Formats: sequence, structure tokens, C-alpha cells
Amino acid sequence: MKKIFFLLLTISIIGCKKAEKKAEVVSKPEVKLHQLVGGSIFVKKLEVFSQDTLYTGQTKQFTDAYYVISHPKGNLMWDAGLPEQLVIPEPFDEPSGVFRIQRPDSLANQLKSIGFKIEDFKYFAMSHSHFDHTGHANLMKDATWIVQENEFNANVGDTLKQKNPALAALKNVQKITGDYDVFGDGTVLIKYMPGHTIGHQVLYVEVAGIEKPVLLTGDLYHFEENRTNKGVPSFNYDVKQTLESMELFEAFAKEKNAEIIIQHSPKDFKKLEELLKK
Ligand SMILES: [Zn+2]
Repeated sequence: MKKIFFLLLTISIIGCKKAEKKAEVVSKPEVKLHQLVGGSIFVKKLEVFSQDTLYTGQTKQFTDAYYVISHPKGNLMWDAGLPEQLVIPEPFDEPSGVFRIQRPDSLANQLKSIGFKIEDFKYFAMSHSHFDHTGHANLMKDATWIVQENEFNANVGDTLKQKNPALAALKNVQKITGDYDVFGDGTVLIKYMPGHTIGHQVLYVEVAGIEKPVLLTGDLYHFEENRTNKGVPSFNYDVKQTLESMELFEAFAKEKNAEIIIQHSPKDFKKLEELLKK
């Protein structure tokens, strides 16, 4: 009898422990990630992505991805592709002679394809304020725009300096300085990585169901060789700061064992697509 009692007690203790474990797993927020193509960018003069002549005479096809992060506390959109005016039958050669650009479809249509609407977003953030990341920003006006204070001041701080009309529509602004934990639970982190622009940032996401967290580069790197060579584009805001950010980025990626996704890389777009399928 005693034996049976102990056996039952042991079983019930094991049972409790199992239940506790289960509860822990359930309590972790279910974060989902989707990627969409905000544009195609054919680079006719790749040398602009270096401080020297390393890429002179080369061309390269870039993609221009943007991302939807779905968290139980709200949805975040990261980056905004090219403007919708570029949803055109033939690609457009922009005046500087460097880029040939085109956007495949409108924001509304692209969101619809993954079951979202423009109004579904509580938060909106961009890696930085260049034209290929702010394209449909004006349509995100009901979301809260999370932006580094210095990036905000450099782009929309006063009306004389307002260089980017897509940003003018954004009225709900949350200015941050440095790293920022979007949902307060460590699953979605904005990391301050300046240099490409004054307030450039990257995004860390712990996606449910995939082994490694995902680290989106913004434009810290534009393509693979650029990461290997620590190549700094000729048009960056600050070379030294960029190199420091690259170091910080690599250390952070290592610490978190993160999957690095270069946002302009068609190869990395495919890689992430495969990871998210699992
Ligand atoms: Zn870019």
C-alpha cells in the first residue's frame, strides 16, 4: 500500500512538472514574420557602394524587401519599399544614372496577399529615411512611427529641411534614442546602428517556430561581398560610425546566434522564405 502511495505521489509530481513546462512554452508570445517585395533595384554603377574603386564597372540586381511582424500586442511594419508611383510596366531610370527601379504592386494588394490591411498596424519603423525604404510611408499614417530622434530631426525636424514628402504624413511619432524593445518582452528589438544615415537602425526578431532569431540588416550592408569586405558606400553619413556599427552588429549576431538577412539581397530573400516555410 505504502509503495503504491509513493508511486502515485511520484507520478503526480512528474505530472505537475510537465504541466509547468507546458505553461512556459505557451506563455512565450507567438511572433510571426512575413516579407514582401517593395521594389526591384538594378544598380548600374556598383562603385557607389564603396569608398574606393573596388566595384567599378560592375552592376548588381538588388531586391527591396519590407517586413510585417505580427505580435500578440500588435503588428509592426519594418521599412516601406519604393513609392507606389513606381508600380509601372517598365522600370524607371532615375536621374542620377545609378538606379533602375520599379515596384511590383501596391501596399494594399501586397498586404492582402498575406491577410493584412493597412489599418492593422499599430507600429511602423524604418531602418532609415532613404527613398527605397520610405516608399509607402505616407500610407502608414495611423500607425505610431518609431524613429531615432536624430533621424527624425535630420529629415522632418523643421519644414525647411523636409526632404522626404512620404514622411510628412506621419503624425503619431515616437522618438527614441538608441536601442528599443518594441513589445517589452525582448522578442522584437530595434538596434541603433548609425553610419549609413545619422539614425540608421536594424531589427532583431525572435520568430516562433524557427530555430534562430532573425536579424535584418537595414542598409548596414547592401550585399554579401559588402559584408565580407566591410565596404562602406560612398554616400554614407559617417564612415567611422558605419564601421563601428558593423562591429557591434557582428558581435550582437554572434551573441544571439542570429540568422543575418541582408535586406537588399535577393539571395537572402530566398533564404528567409525557406526558413519561414518550415
Ligand atoms: Zn536601401
